[in-house]
Amino acid sequence: MKAVQYREVGGSPEVVDVPEPEPGPGQVLLKVTAAGVCHSDIAVMSWPEVPFGLPLTLGHEGAGTVEALGDGVTGLEVGESVAVYGPWGCGTCLECSRGKENYCLRADELEIRPPGLGAPGAIAEYMLVDDPRHLVPLKGLDPVQNVPLTDAGLTPYHAIKGALPKLVPGSTAVVIGTGGLGHVGVQLIRALSPARVIALDVSEEKLELARKVGAHETLKSDEHAAGRVREMTGGAEAVFDFVGVQATVDLAVAVAGVDSAVMLVGIGGGTARVGFGVNPYDMAVRTPYWGSRSELIEVLELARAGAVDVHVETYSIDEAPRAYERLHAGRVDGRAVILPNG
Ligand code: NAD
Ligand code: ZN
Ligand code: ZN
Repeated sequence: MKAVQYREVGGSPEVVDVPEPEPGPGQVLLKVTAAGVCHSDIAVMSWPEVPFGLPLTLGHEGAGTVEALGDGVTGLEVGESVAVYGPWGCGTCLECSRGKENYCLRADELEIRPPGLGAPGAIAEYMLVDDPRHLVPLKGLDPVQNVPLTDAGLTPYHAIKGALPKLVPGSTAVVIGTGGLGHVGVQLIRALSPARVIALDVSEEKLELARKVGAHETLKSDEHAAGRVREMTGGAEAVFDFVGVQATVDLAVAVAGVDSAVMLVGIGGGTARVGFGVNPYDMAVRTPYWGSRSELIEVLELARAGAVDVHVETYSIDEAPRAYERLHAGRVDGRAVILPNG
């Protein structure tokens, strides 16, 4: 079968032919319908070394139809359309027992890795899923439009839920970076809260998308941005940084007000300076990662209710390397989605 792999450190994604996997006991084989392309893959491919073996089949946003069930798997029908919950954990530690496999206490020790970030991922004609609990039935949702919700939806949703008590009437949420995650994040804030949304990006096209999906105000993310946002708000109640480089972390902290939540979601390597007297009283800086299984179910319910509309660009599997190039160049409008069997 065809798969898109990161094969060696410093390399670029390549379309290769690999053996079609077979489900072992307890596993599920999916025929992949759609797989989203995340900026985290570009970050991983820039690291001088990776904490897992290569080659790696990319893609940690996946949706497909059940192709075959390994021994002992029950509760799924062959042909059923499902989304993959990506942050696999051990399933039994305290965090996993709460459905928060994204915060599994034993994943590192047991070398359990998400598909596309250590285990073979979704940008392939078929993918193996280690346990049926990682699958959420799509129940009529279009897999192509909604596959990004497994990360570009779930991650902002988890971050926003953590800051929701701050987002009361009259409050402001600042969204920095309105690409894949950010343009969904704007919609989720609008769906979950009465907060005013101010969105910032370096690209005018991304700001256009932010306005289209519900941002009340948009601003160019430059050296004047922090001052402008402070003038508009006096300090925002919640800030979501979907970039995470030093400039945006500085911006996020600079626009945060008293008793605010600063959610650093982007993995650009920036760090925040926090200390008494340095920041407004009771400002919290948090680094949320992905989301829980129940939150994925909730995000999919929001999509079913019509509250989130992911903007997608679709590509065949042979075009997947071009999708990564466009993402790297900041040219993707919303999320790039690969159709490995389409
Ligand atoms: P993306 O490329 O689709 O979007 C990034 C956006 O940020 C683009 O619109 C770009 O124009 C904008 N941007 C770049 N520099 C900026 C700046 N200085 N100020 C404002 N905007 C700027 O990327 P994505 O797939 O949405 O991922 C966003 C970030 O979140 C990445 O760092 C990714 O690795 C990370 N991520 C984190 C988690 C997590 O669990 N914490 C999960 C998924 C992705
Ligand atoms: Zn991701
Ligand atoms: Zn666990």
